[in-house]
Amino acid sequence: MENAVSARRLAIVPTLKCTLNCKLCCNLMQKFDKPYEVSAEHIISDIDRIFEIFDYVEWLQFVGGEIFLHRTLPAVYAYALNYKSKFGKLILMTNATIVPRKEELEVLKQYGDQCQVMISDYGKYSYKRAEMVQAFAENDIPYLVKSYHGDMQYYGGWIDNTDFTPFTGSDDELAVKIKACPQIGMENMHCLDGKLHMCSNSCFMSELGKSVPAVGEFVDLNDSLQSISQKREIVRRFYKQPVSACRICSFRNADTAERFPAAQQEERTR
Ligand code: SF4
Ligand code: SF4
Repeated sequence: MENAVSARRLAIVPTLKCTLNCKLCCNLMQKFDKPYEVSAEHIISDIDRIFEIFDYVEWLQFVGGEIFLHRTLPAVYAYALNYKSKFGKLILMTNATIVPRKEELEVLKQYGDQCQVMISDYGKYSYKRAEMVQAFAENDIPYLVKSYHGDMQYYGGWIDNTDFTPFTGSDDELAVKIKACPQIGMENMHCLDGKLHMCSNSCFMSELGKSVPAVGEFVDLNDSLQSISQKREIVRRFYKQPVSACRICSFRNADTAERFPAAQQEERTR
């Protein structure tokens, strides 16, 4: 029998739209001229394809943009309950600018302790934090507030990953460099509209057209010419070698890169 395939973290990206416009957004949302949402139907199909490949996912995450902007996600959370035994936790990431609606609260309650909402607290920008916390507390939905403002910043602040300056060393040198990458340490896979990448930057840099992933660097969940075994083989190779995006990604220097205050806002031009 084929060896089981599991993921530590697998983030589904339902929307590239955000209520904030962070200058150094680690997901590069500020770089999208036309940020879009993925339909609930497509996300549900992606979830089916994901669990054909993976026997188990420790953290099934929903990450934006701001996920509470997406109005039809309650149907997706309800559908994911069908796979409840195949993942450890449902993790939702939010910037605390939109209070979740009754529809979201009702379905998340059904997960009990299997759900956790990670609230990024950007101080004055997370203007709905108190109302959001109250809503989760009243509905017994587990949540965690992470501080990203003032002197208490997770990871000491953010890295500037916006200039895409290419690394000019050899492939072997790049392979050594990326060992410092926190995305590799976390094994933080990201799935956007049918494309599964080994990390957030490969996902978003590819979507932006800044980097062109080679065959075998990501899984096209909807490629019917590729077997499940072939898709599993691609996943097994994740984190063993750099991908194209690593050449233009500052996360490879995460151990030494300068840190900046989180969530500095810039004027929206789109
Ligand atoms: S809140 Fe800021 S960091 Fe988070 S997705 Fe939106 S723009 Fe990016
Ligand atoms: S250095 Fe490579 S593996 Fe790390 S986040 Fe960037 S693209 Fe992903």
